[in-house]
Amino acid sequence: MNRLMVAVLWITVKGGLNYPFEDPELSPDMFQGDIGIPPLKQRNGMNTALHLWPNRTVFFEIEPNKFRDEHMALIRQAMNTIQEKSCVIFRNATEAERSSSLLITSQNKGCSTLVLGFRNFTNKMNLQLFDPGRGCFRIGSIIHEFLHVLGFEHQHVAQDRDQFVRIAWENINPEFKINFINNDKISNFSSFGETYDYDSVMHYIPTAFSKNGMPTIIPLKEVGQRMGQRLGMSEIDVRKLNKMYKCPGYV
Ligand SMILES: [Zn+2]
Repeated sequence: MNRLMVAVLWITVKGGLNYPFEDPELSPDMFQGDIGIPPLKQRNGMNTALHLWPNRTVFFEIEPNKFRDEHMALIRQAMNTIQEKSCVIFRNATEAERSSSLLITSQNKGCSTLVLGFRNFTNKMNLQLFDPGRGCFRIGSIIHEFLHVLGFEHQHVAQDRDQFVRIAWENINPEFKINFINNDKISNFSSFGETYDYDSVMHYIPTAFSKNGMPTIIPLKEVGQRMGQRLGMSEIDVRKLNKMYKCPGYV
């Protein structure tokens, strides 16, 4: 059995996670796979009021005729999950809010978010159409993109990551090494007092941007088994979001 076959088998055993470049969050032409404009290497969650959604409210527009009913239902379910677990709310943008709202569309390939957090221009979330439960239409993938919209980065670029994972640079496709760099020590980002979270819906899969199918992110502690899960928010994801938006009980 060659190395590629071993890796594919390993991925299959791990629970059917996609091979790196088949994962629609790992589009080769975007920063860290699914963020349109690089966030200047800043760390896991924004803590600058400027980029948090005003009044803890994401005002959005879903581009007409881009989704079928079953897709709309999953987008709604992802919003409802975030609303139930935090004080963040989602509502349709008014005409006046359109210029700084979130546009949700399926016009491009892959699942991606243009920028982290709230801006004075239209942020854009792309969810390529897949059958429900697959690709960008896994519920955790939709929640992942919403957490980018709310201000979260990927977990593996957190400043304390080297205590928790080894980045296997030797297995990363050289073109995509930038997606793993975390050398910025000055940042307006925060981990909100929470530990590194292998279970985060913002964590990459173990073979993200691999050049050979071998792991690129190797857990250093026992608890790394669900790295890359896209089932939903972890307990720590929930706490961080509540702290980021200063929800009642978390201030
Ligand atoms: Zn992402």
